[in-house]
Amino acid sequence: MLLKWLSNNLIILRYPIREYHITVPVRMDDGKVRIFRGFRIQHNDALGPCKGGIRFHPQETADTVRALSMWMTWKCAVAGIPLGGAKGGIICDPHDLSEREQERLCRGWVRQISKDIGPNRDVPAPDVMTNNQHMLWIMDEYSTILGSQYPGVITGKPVGLGGSLGRTEATGYGLVYQLREACKELNIEIKKAKASIEGFGNVAQYSAELFMDYGGKVVCVSCWDQKDSCAYSFYKKDGINLSELRKITDRFGTIDKKKAKELGYEVQPGKDWLKHEVDILIPAALENSITKDNVKDIKNTVKIVVSGANGPITPEADDLLDKRGILVIPDFLANAGGVVCSYFEQVQSNQNYYWTKEEVLGKLDNKMTDAFYKAWELSKRKNVRLRDAAYMIAIQRVADACKLRGWI
Ligand code: GLU
Repeated sequence: MLLKWLSNNLIILRYPIREYHITVPVRMDDGKVRIFRGFRIQHNDALGPCKGGIRFHPQETADTVRALSMWMTWKCAVAGIPLGGAKGGIICDPHDLSEREQERLCRGWVRQISKDIGPNRDVPAPDVMTNNQHMLWIMDEYSTILGSQYPGVITGKPVGLGGSLGRTEATGYGLVYQLREACKELNIEIKKAKASIEGFGNVAQYSAELFMDYGGKVVCVSCWDQKDSCAYSFYKKDGINLSELRKITDRFGTIDKKKAKELGYEVQPGKDWLKHEVDILIPAALENSITKDNVKDIKNTVKIVVSGANGPITPEADDLLDKRGILVIPDFLANAGGVVCSYFEQVQSNQNYYWTKEEVLGKLDNKMTDAFYKAWELSKRKNVRLRDAAYMIAIQRVADACKLRGWI
């Protein structure tokens, strides 16, 4: 009986409920038409409408989007929000596209998928290399297609046009709220703690911002360029200065090496970000960054690894970190702040009534802290890793919802 229940459960949770593979014709600035391939994969909607970002990436694959869509299911569930999981991707490199071409691509994408998304069906959001302007074009095109205003069709919109205050900061801040609690549990004083961060995109920048607001020191960040997802790292013994680095960073998160050197940063190979003597590592770039081959580069001073990116630690590396007694706050728990705030944005958009930044961030802190402690306490009670405890909570919630709906 139990085995039958389990295997039915596994089947419904193992595969996405729906997958869309689309082609998007885009008229380029030179007058020629280029065809872009894209995906939207809805993993599970037992808890509520599907939710998840859209990535622009030249190496995007359906497999990656599929895996990420499943993570969104667990992320929403562990965070305790009434949403399911989805993810989208378009194979493209926005570095090579003009503003107008990007607009036509976003509008073309939503024209192909408009019947299969919607405020009560599937709500996209920003992700790798997509931003609030992309979201707004998508919302605008969707509203035109349906002939009515639908601000709740997408989140991560600009503030003033349906966006929520605090959404830009949410993923990075949410991660640091949980890090703050983990530090308390491990008796680490944030004011004396040092961190090194992989990446310098949205998540990395706002994690650094709040961590430094709490009195911690960030000694290193890294960035990508068009050829390499982890091209350079920028080290400053006394701590980076966020505002000076932001001034020399382009909109894709690439820091100007020459100018950084002039400002006194040591420019090192990208992978060196994890070799520093720090207390905390925050991989906040792309997947598969900490592997079995580079765990040995992590110094014994490191006590916590908080995953800002989705899937930055391979399973083998996760085992090795656990053996070394390093606490890992897993991605779908630590970086859930983005989707939690997206949920707040959706609620505000659907009501057409907007909250203050303090209200948004206060609610975000409560949700993230609560999710952390639910997983922390279960991990202590069952003597399992935090990642496993978080999975147990998330899978149980989704399985319960499936069961209540009569799907299993
Ligand atoms: N792209 C973000 C993530 O991976 C946010 C998703 C959302 O807000 O729907 O969690």
